[in-house]
Amino acid sequence: MSLMAFLGSAAGALYRERRYSEAQMQAVQARRLSALLQHARAHTALGEERLGHLDLDAVDLTRVPTITKQLLTERFDHSVAHGVPSLAEVMAFTAARDQVGHQLKDEFICATTSGTTGRVGYFVTDKRAWAALNGALFARILRHRLIPREVLRFSPMRRYRMAMAVATGGHFITRLVSTFQPLLARGMMTMEAFSITEPIEATVEKLNRYQPHYLHSYPTYLEMLARVQLEGALQIDPEFISLGSEPVSALARATIQRAFPNAEISETYGATECLPMANQCRHGRLHANTDLCVLEPVDADGQPVPVGVPSEKVLVTNLLNRAQPLIRYELMDSVTVLDEPCPCGAALPVIRVEGRSDDTFFLADHEGRFHAYPPVPFEVLFLDLRGLEQYQLVHEAQNHLHIRVVTGPGADVAAVKAELLQRFRRYFAQNHLAECVRLDVSVVPTLEREATGHKLRQVFSKVPRPVAA
Ligand SMILES: [Zn+2]
Repeated sequence: MSLMAFLGSAAGALYRERRYSEAQMQAVQARRLSALLQHARAHTALGEERLGHLDLDAVDLTRVPTITKQLLTERFDHSVAHGVPSLAEVMAFTAARDQVGHQLKDEFICATTSGTTGRVGYFVTDKRAWAALNGALFARILRHRLIPREVLRFSPMRRYRMAMAVATGGHFITRLVSTFQPLLARGMMTMEAFSITEPIEATVEKLNRYQPHYLHSYPTYLEMLARVQLEGALQIDPEFISLGSEPVSALARATIQRAFPNAEISETYGATECLPMANQCRHGRLHANTDLCVLEPVDADGQPVPVGVPSEKVLVTNLLNRAQPLIRYELMDSVTVLDEPCPCGAALPVIRVEGRSDDTFFLADHEGRFHAYPPVPFEVLFLDLRGLEQYQLVHEAQNHLHIRVVTGPGADVAAVKAELLQRFRRYFAQNHLAECVRLDVSVVPTLEREATGHKLRQVFSKVPRPVAA
């Protein structure tokens, strides 16, 4: 772990947002973009092919072809810099559960995601960029709390306790963030990861013992924790809650705030492809981190949309990662750039994001009692499954789930089905649902998208929410 890169990046991110003008911020972006493109052209086959003809000192980014997850996976070995592990090596590494939290060849952070397309993707970040992205992310999340009066409340004797309630089993990006534990432990913080796939009772007990000052999770999972807190089983009093990886509904946010009245709530817009794309300031506005990435909101044809208009998708360029330069990478989120100044004064544009929204399922146990099952733990069950390319999980009728999968060429279809059934049955057994849920798995040629836009509803319910839940 590069401590200097982490701290340097955190300090830089704070300084720029407090001191820089818009012009200065744009200059940082332009400089970093030019350096990224030079690097990509010199060190990756894909960069040479796509950027060879361009003047990279004054580049018009719209002349660079965009890239999708599918294309990136197909051309993975051309997308990474020379000396970076191949797709075969990364797949083998991420398939090994005992390697979670480790770096491949002591140098590369590997993450898998299903993201907004239902397709599993593989991403590699070099450890220097990883440290810098995380440093900036922490600085931007905790932005106005990183002042002496706040920081001095804590010491190596009285540490700031951070809790990450995330998917701990796989090479999931949020789990990888919590691998900063060894680094933070040297300072004034401790960080612990709490598994969202464990039975909720176990997680609640551990959180009660840990009593976090800071709690991070997915909005749907935090909404469930909020309900458990309101019912009395969970008894924690965090002063800061950060939410990410999913859109936050107004109801979820209100429930979380009611359950944790002393907590300041901050939303993060990030993806495996680029961890800190935008963060919320204390005025509740989401600021794009234009010094860490380039975000281009575009329409269905890839043309830029004007300020104030919601985009169909967004192209992201990660300005720091050198192991696998991601340039104009397509994400299926709708981003609107808002033309409104924020009282916080940061020279970072205010945006609104509508991402993929997955449903929480309300399933009845064998006594007919309803429990809430947020989407992310289900999504984890689809990860690192050989032969599986895309999936969709639908709550068709009360306690009847239907999985649709697309398998890759040459996949052992029977083995994919058997593995999925086994993983789901194990999850049900651990979460009050043994013998309570009907589960079908079908293999289909393609998954249907919604009529509007390109968004795939990946985990969704056709069942109305029970009145009691
Ligand atoms: Zn602001």
